[in-house]
Amino acid sequence: MTKLLIKLFVKDKDNVTDPAVRGRYAALAGITGILLNLLLFAGKLTAGLLAASVAVIADAFNNVSDAGSSVVTLIGFRLASKPVDKEHPLGHGRLEYITGFIVDMLIILVGAELFKSSIEKIASPRLPSVTTLTLVLLGAAILVKLWLFFFYRKIGRLIDSSAIKATSFDSISDVVATTLVLVSALVAKFAGLAIDGWAGILVACFILFTGLKAAKETIDLLLGTPPSSEFIKAVYDFVKGYPEVAGIHDVIVHDYGPGRKFISFHAEVPANSDINYAHDVIDCIERDMNEKFGCVVTIHLDPIVMDDPRVDKMRILAEKAAEDEDPAFTIHDFRMTYGGRHINMIFDLCVPSDCKLSTAEAAKRVAERISEKNPDCYAVIKAEHPFV
Ligand SMILES: [Zn+2]
Ligand SMILES: [Zn+2]
Repeated sequence: MTKLLIKLFVKDKDNVTDPAVRGRYAALAGITGILLNLLLFAGKLTAGLLAASVAVIADAFNNVSDAGSSVVTLIGFRLASKPVDKEHPLGHGRLEYITGFIVDMLIILVGAELFKSSIEKIASPRLPSVTTLTLVLLGAAILVKLWLFFFYRKIGRLIDSSAIKATSFDSISDVVATTLVLVSALVAKFAGLAIDGWAGILVACFILFTGLKAAKETIDLLLGTPPSSEFIKAVYDFVKGYPEVAGIHDVIVHDYGPGRKFISFHAEVPANSDINYAHDVIDCIERDMNEKFGCVVTIHLDPIVMDDPRVDKMRILAEKAAEDEDPAFTIHDFRMTYGGRHINMIFDLCVPSDCKLSTAEAAKRVAERISEKNPDCYAVIKAEHPFV
């Protein structure tokens, strides 16, 4: 079935790395999800209202929230591919997060509402009038969700999409929820016990949990999450291919959605290299990275003294002081100036964001360590948190 759908609706189906083909897979997954979930919603809502069962009604709304997230995913793929315009030079990728957030809020609202009606149902229990139709509909709903699970899993693996894989997990947890509702309906019909309200509460909690989790993820994306360590490693490895650059630091990645990524970093070049040549190399890296990673790259040039043994010695000393304070500290942009009695060492200190010390305290402590051991050294330190 899944194979047939792919064959029918996904043009050029084997080219799974092409964004256009991925978009078609996502559209197929999204539209199938919306149609089936709306169908499930209609069926369960009818059954729930006929049987006066709050649990079945809650389970029906669980399907609406799934259809809602599928709509957002679809819109997201559409909007993200909308070209930049005069008002939005950074593209429209983040619109996906905003629509996502609105849907998350609606899901939470529905969950809270269902929680309330379930409590009322527990306070004044009434046996739902479960019919064979109710049971058949719930059973069919479980089978449909099971099929959706396999369907999403297949497509998620095919195009290696974490969003679609996550949807497949959501389907399997829906199977559990509906099974629970089915059990409570069976208990009502055959044991005459009204546990409907309790099952309703469980499903409501389920919806609330899904909504809150999704909202947290959306907020994270809106605030800006750090780039993946694989991406940063790929950037470092790429620059290593240019022997003129001794190292890089202060990498910043701005992500405005797929295809709208901006990177900046400092490239260390030997202080005695020709400025025109160094600039040419830097320009080259910017161009090559744009081609390889599809992002806009800006590189700042940092001259470093590499052939002065005195500078080397002092730099190692500063590195040691930073490491002694905290093994996670690193330094860069090391320079030296000679005063009459003192040597000034000037450098940047990179303090991990989870460090207990403030950047100012960290700088002070490292400076103290240096002047303790070398009274004729004065350290001027600029400490900062990394952006990656
Ligand atoms: Zn720098
Ligand atoms: Zn330039």
